[in-house]
Amino acid sequence: MKNQFDTHILPTWCPGCGNWSIFTALKQALAKNNLQPHEFVVVTDIGCSSNAADFINTYVFHGLHGRSLPVATGIKLANHHLPVIVIIGDGACYGEGLNHFINLMRGNHNITVLVCDNYLYGLTTGQYSPTTIKGTITKSTPNGSIEEALNPLALALANQTTFAARGYAFDLSHLTNLIDKAINHQGFSLLDILQPCVSFNKTQTVAWYQEKVYKLKTVFKTKPEAFNESLRTDKLAIGIFYQEDRLTYDREDKVLQKGLLVDKKIDKINIGKLVEGFV
Ligand code: SF4
Repeated sequence: MKNQFDTHILPTWCPGCGNWSIFTALKQALAKNNLQPHEFVVVTDIGCSSNAADFINTYVFHGLHGRSLPVATGIKLANHHLPVIVIIGDGACYGEGLNHFINLMRGNHNITVLVCDNYLYGLTTGQYSPTTIKGTITKSTPNGSIEEALNPLALALANQTTFAARGYAFDLSHLTNLIDKAINHQGFSLLDILQPCVSFNKTQTVAWYQEKVYKLKTVFKTKPEAFNESLRTDKLAIGIFYQEDRLTYDREDKVLQKGLLVDKKIDKINIGKLVEGFV
């Protein structure tokens, strides 16, 4: 039941924002997997999408800007049987949190990262972000942005992600399917979601996306093929670009293989002595 993930708090997103359908898709994917609210954890960041901390009924940690990723890693290390889903914006993931993002992929931490990518900072009313396309006029780039845009999928593919996908907020059934696949992937999964910000992004409008977006027919068999597709800017493919099996961090780590850290007894640990070692 998708409704079991609703809370009594009404979302504050602008009418027409892509966040509405992204979170409908997420709740549908959770219901499809028969997950109950107490069976997973969501870690949010700072941003419009991350305000979902109040709008989804499960265990939620509302992190600091760009720091949701290490928090999610910590949760996963403490209980590696628990599904962990990060909801984060493009500014936080590819700006403030970029270092964390890269290193999570290297370790193949079994975490799902949903990036609500509207090509700017929406919560702070429309400043340019790492994915803002060069030349775009935003509140903080009145003459057009100077830097080249960061390419999330190319970056992820070059940095050992085992799952790289792109979705579009306004293709609900396709996005639900992608979130389902990302949640079920054993390893790090990046799902970059193209999300119109109707209030502040007057360049990447719904019409702009409708013109550019098309669906991949199959998953690329090799990483170079996926990488080449990720470099395209004339059209934007949605779907799974690449997926591979590789041992996850918890399956590589010998201590974690002996059991969950949260199950370890700590009553015999002499905390005083432990602290002494650091002073
Ligand atoms: Fe959505 Fe943009 Fe409004 Fe934020 S400012 S809720 S991203 S439309």
